[in-house]
Amino acid sequence: MKTKLIKDLDPNIKSSWNDSLFITFDIDWAHDSVIDYCHDYFSKRNLKTTWYTTHFSSKVQELSCDSNIEIGIHPNFNDLLYSDKTVLDSVGIINDLLDLFPESSTVRSHSLTMSERLLETFASLKLFRISNLFLPFDRFSKASPFNLWHDTVMIPHCYQDNISLKMSHDLVELDTNTSGLKVLLIHPIHFFLNTPSLEYYESCRPYFKDPKKLKEKRFKGNGIFSRVDLFLKYLYE
Ligand SMILES: [Zn+2]
Repeated sequence: MKTKLIKDLDPNIKSSWNDSLFITFDIDWAHDSVIDYCHDYFSKRNLKTTWYTTHFSSKVQELSCDSNIEIGIHPNFNDLLYSDKTVLDSVGIINDLLDLFPESSTVRSHSLTMSERLLETFASLKLFRISNLFLPFDRFSKASPFNLWHDTVMIPHCYQDNISLKMSHDLVELDTNTSGLKVLLIHPIHFFLNTPSLEYYESCRPYFKDPKKLKEKRFKGNGIFSRVDLFLKYLYE
C-alpha cells in the first residue's frame, strides 16, 4: 500500500486514496531533536508524510525541503476559547503560520477546533483541505473524503495516537484491506517517547525542551512507537 501526501488526494477519484496510507504529524511545538527522530525513521523507509506545523525552526525548514513531505499548518485557537491571552484573532493566528508556510493548502487545528465560521475563514485563506475530523476506524470502516461548500474537502483521520490511549484503540487492528480512507495522526513527542499512557506523557512534560533527558525517558515497553512500528513493519517489511 502506497503512502501519499494529503495534496495527492482527490475526493472525486477513489483510486487517489482508497488503497493508500496517509501518515500525518501534528508537530505541537516539538523540539527539533524529537522531529528529527521521526523524520529519520520515515525517510529511511522512504515513506511519504504530511506535517502540520505549529512553528518555524531549522529542522522544520529541512522538512519543507524534503520532496517526500508536505507541510500543512496547525493553528492553535485554544487561547481564544480558554484564556484571556487574546493577542490575535483566528485570522491572525492562521496568517502568522501562512506567513511562514505560504504554500500550505491543508490545515488541522490544534485540538481539532472547528466551526462553520472557521471553515469559511480557511477557505478565504485558500486552505481547502481540512483534517479536523476523527472517525475511528473500528466505528467507520467506510470513511471517505468528502466535499463541502467553497471547494472545501474534508479529510477525516481514522487513527489518532493520543486518543488511542484513551480508547484502547490499537493501530495494529486497522484492517488495511478495507476501502476506507486511511489517515493516521501521530504526534512526534508520542513517537519519540513511545508513550504508554497519558499519565506517563504528562510526567515527562518538564523535559520537553531537554532532548537528553527526554531520551532517557523513552518508554521500554509497549507504547505509541512500538505499535506504529509494528503496524508499519507488517505493511512495508
Ligand atoms: Zn496539536
